Amino acid sequence: MHTPEISEIIAQNMEELRACPLGMDCDKCAKDICVAVVSVADFPTKYGHFKIIGFVNNRDRKDHIVILKGDLGDGENLLTRVHSACLTGDALGSLRCDCGPQLHRALERIEKEGRGAVLYHQEEGRGIGLVNKLRAYALQDAGYDTLDANVALGFKADERDYRIPAEMLRRLGVKSVRLMTNNPEKVNDMEGNGIRVTERVPHELPPHEHDRNYLETKRERFGHLLDLFDAPEE
Ligand SMILES: [Zn+2]
Repeated sequence: MHTPEISEIIAQNMEELRACPLGMDCDKCAKDICVAVVSVADFPTKYGHFKIIGFVNNRDRKDHIVILKGDLGDGENLLTRVHSACLTGDALGSLRCDCGPQLHRALERIEKEGRGAVLYHQEEGRGIGLVNKLRAYALQDAGYDTLDANVALGFKADERDYRIPAEMLRRLGVKSVRLMTNNPEKVNDMEGNGIRVTERVPHELPPHEHDRNYLETKRERFGHLLDLFDAPEE
């Protein structure tokens, strides 16, 4: 079977977008979620050489992207990370969480394998947004854990919605993934949205003094599968 190249996918998606009578401005659209690929560009990084793919959608209208390596082929068993945005961890070197190292480790693993994807999911702070995450940090400084802090601010423990990521992967022709995560809930959510998870690939980094409490909360209260072993002495 012919697997479409990304350029073909974009051409087809752009045609569909042009044909959309409301230009995706369609809260009452019969289709619950429309997701379209609108750009692909070369993306050299210090971790390796990738493609970076831009999407639009008619639901949250956020700028979710995919960083892709290699050929998708039959779309099966793609080494994948669905990474929730964390400005403080991903870009500012925060030690309050393990997000930055998890993101960069995922890119390294994909480069090594020669095929895979990071989906950068714009769901800062488990979906509560950057400033609300900072409010939660202030509560954590006063003794709350990350779950209780979110709830104290009036949010669910986890506000993320995986319908859009699943639809984005489907748009690229991905059928099944080997998901880099420690979070069984994320595996369930992807499967619930129609992307088969053929393997959960553990994605743990050694804890340190600043994120140990946070990781313990992830393990004890969010059910993440973490060993929390210390890094071996250098
Ligand atoms: Zn983080």
